[in-house]
Amino acid sequence: MRRDRPSFTDEIKAELAGLQPAKPCCKDAELDALIRVLAASRNGRVRLRLPRNPIARAVVQLARDTGGQVHGVRKGTTERRPSYTVELSPGPAARTEGMCCARAALRGLFLARGVIAEPGSAYHLEIAVPPAEQAATASVLDRLRLPTTRLQRRGRAVFYLKGAEAITRSLGLMGANRAVVRFEHDRIVRDMRGNANRRANSETANLDKRLRVAYAQVEAVRKLQHHERSLQSLSPALRATAELRLAHPHASLQTLAGHAQVSKSAIAHRLHRLLALARENGLLD
Ligand SMILES: [Zn+2]
Repeated sequence: MRRDRPSFTDEIKAELAGLQPAKPCCKDAELDALIRVLAASRNGRVRLRLPRNPIARAVVQLARDTGGQVHGVRKGTTERRPSYTVELSPGPAARTEGMCCARAALRGLFLARGVIAEPGSAYHLEIAVPPAEQAATASVLDRLRLPTTRLQRRGRAVFYLKGAEAITRSLGLMGANRAVVRFEHDRIVRDMRGNANRRANSETANLDKRLRVAYAQVEAVRKLQHHERSLQSLSPALRATAELRLAHPHASLQTLAGHAQVSKSAIAHRLHRLLALARENGLLD
């Protein structure tokens, strides 16, 4: 099947591969989840077959950052879609009990074995793991309070999530903010399409505009964060607004204003200021 654009699954994985966890515990949790479901054990040398180059690169980085050793990366030659085999010896296992680590583990699980339906067509996200990893996977999902259903399929334990709310939440937990924006957008458009009274056109245009603006704000904040290494140099009000936008990438100004307990125009002004700052620093096109 040929596609003009990458699937939503690929899009999310590319976004997730670009996020390196800040805390060492989370790096270990993410890598550990990847290794467990792909190699069935983290003893000695493990060999991981990964679908995409950005994921292979992320795994190499995680392995190095957690005291492991990377022995080699090989590109598969036979497939139409290239795969990469990374051979590594993981570092010592760290303590990964925090909620931060549960989110990192979810990211690892999804990178390794996750699939999500196109948001315009169905609300379905699933992660298929080897039977031996069923209990560990269930425990990650339970800690995050994600309501999954379980079934067995072709020798794998498949965990799946249904419903737009649960999927948005899981994407948010993984830190896939861009994916949340796209998912929410497609979902609302889909709901509107199903709506009998068709005021849809102007509303879709408004929504598109709102989400495009929100997306630009999230990008601006991320770039500022990356550029400055932190948002510490900003005023407390701007910093709080930046963090709020990251935590609620698709929320309306009204909602953000409610969270911050300031007026809508104050929030609009601060977001505007953040965008301007990112532009002044040449961080946005
Ligand atoms: Zn952690």
